[in-house]
Amino acid sequence: MKTGLVTSDSYKDHDTGPGHPEQIARVSIINENFKKLNNKNILWKRPSIITEDIIKDTHDSNYIDLVKSSFPNKGFSSLDGDTIISPGSKNATFDAVGSIIAAIDGVQNKEFKNAFCSVRPPGHHCNQNKAAGFCILNNVAIGANYLINKYKYNKVAIIDFDVHHGNGTQDIFYNNKNVLFISTHQYPYYPGTGSEKEKGKFNNIYNIPLPAGTNSEEYLNAFEFALKKLEKFQPEFVLISAGFDGHKADPLAQLKLNTNDYYEITKRILKTSKKFCNGKVVSILEGGYDLEALKDSTKRHVDALLEFN
Ligand SMILES: [Zn+2]
Repeated sequence: MKTGLVTSDSYKDHDTGPGHPEQIARVSIINENFKKLNNKNILWKRPSIITEDIIKDTHDSNYIDLVKSSFPNKGFSSLDGDTIISPGSKNATFDAVGSIIAAIDGVQNKEFKNAFCSVRPPGHHCNQNKAAGFCILNNVAIGANYLINKYKYNKVAIIDFDVHHGNGTQDIFYNNKNVLFISTHQYPYYPGTGSEKEKGKFNNIYNIPLPAGTNSEEYLNAFEFALKKLEKFQPEFVLISAGFDGHKADPLAQLKLNTNDYYEITKRILKTSKKFCNGKVVSILEGGYDLEALKDSTKRHVDALLEFN
C-alpha cells in the first residue's frame, strides 16, 4: 500500500525572519527531494481545511483567539521570544494542523497505509494556552484528540523523537489515560522539562532523557525501552512527533545520531505498531535544522514508512 505525504505551499509564507533556524528552506528541501525521487508509492495530499472545534479540543478558546489576532498585516510579530510570525504564518499554521487531520482521515479511509506530514510551523512545545519554541498550535496533540473524538479510539500513542522534550504535548495529555506520550530527548536541555520523574496521572507519560553526546548505539538501546512501553500500552493508533535535530550535524543540539538511525527508529516503531494497530501510523515534522541532514533523514524515515506499511 501507499504512504501519504501531506503538504502544501503555505509553509513558504511563514516567514520567521533572517537567520532564524526554523526557516522556509527546511520544508522546501524535503519536498523538492521527494519530488525528485518520484516514488510512485508516495501519494501526495493536501491538508484538510479545519474548523475551529477541532482545535478547541486541544487549545483554550482564549488562546486560539489570541493566536488568530496576533498575525501581523505586515512585517513581523512574535508569540514568544523564539516564535516569530508574519502575515503568511496564519495559513501555514492552520495547514500544519490540517495536514495531520488529512493524514489521519487518509489512513482511516484506507487511501494510504501510513503518512508523513511535511509541514511547518512545528507544534510539540506549544501547550493548551502558550506558544513556545517555534510552535504555535500543537499539531500532533490536535491529531490525537481528533482520533479520540472523531474515531473513538481509546488508546493513542505519541512517540516524540525530536531532540527537545515535547513539553507542550506532555502538558496537554498529562491527565489523559487515552494517550501514551513517549519522548526521547537531550536532557538537561531546552525546554528544561522531560525528566523520568514526570510520569503523568495514569503513568501515561514516559520520558527517556539522554545526555549530550549520546551516540547511535546508546540511543537505539534506550529506544528499546520506549518500544516495550508502547507494546505494553497496545496502541490503536500511533502518531510520531518526528524531529530530526538529534542528528549529529544539527546546530541546535548535541546528540550524535546518523541519517540511517531515522530509518531504524521508524522501522522499529512500525514493527511494534503492526502487532497492535495494523501499522496505522501518522508522522509529522517537528525540528531538524541542518538542511542536508534533514533532507536525508526524512528520506530514510519515509523509506521505512514505505517498506513496512
Ligand atoms: Zn527540536
